[in-house]
Amino acid sequence: MSRSTSAKPATDADTAPESGAVLLRPHHVLCSIGWAGRGYSPAFSRNMDRVVMGRLRRDPATPVQFVAGADSICAPCPHRRGQGCASAERIAGLDQAHGAALGIAPGAAMTWAQAEARARRLDPDDLDRICAACQWLPLGLCKSALAALKAAESENAAPDGTAS
Ligand code: SF4
Repeated sequence: MSRSTSAKPATDADTAPESGAVLLRPHHVLCSIGWAGRGYSPAFSRNMDRVVMGRLRRDPATPVQFVAGADSICAPCPHRRGQGCASAERIAGLDQAHGAALGIAPGAAMTWAQAEARARRLDPDDLDRICAACQWLPLGLCKSALAALKAAESENAAPDGTAS
């Protein structure tokens, strides 16, 4: 699986109505960093490509609004139940663990670059704890993606420690 960046820009209806911000549950920051093309259904994967490749990775200045319920990624998910989820308790646990690790709560707003910067403070092995309830964790894709993100930051750092 590759981390394609070829998706077209999104024109979605499942964004914040005023700002057009991408709506994200807290745990979807790391899911978006780890996205490599495997989803719950073809429709879910197409939407994930649209949001992650078409908006977040295409433009790090993309505004993100954090929410407690279904978000821009959940919209076509076969497990979505209105604004909730068929696995509500497990998903709430992921949001709580990721939100605490990232310092992000529903209601917060920032750019995608700022959300990614918070994720870079984590160690990939932190996912063993905060993602323990996720079926995708054993694939290792998200830990690898976070490791790559941190490595890219190190490579871009100037000798004086500032980002170039
Ligand atoms: S392991 Fe699951 S919850 Fe954790 S970042 Fe990956 S997809 Fe998201």
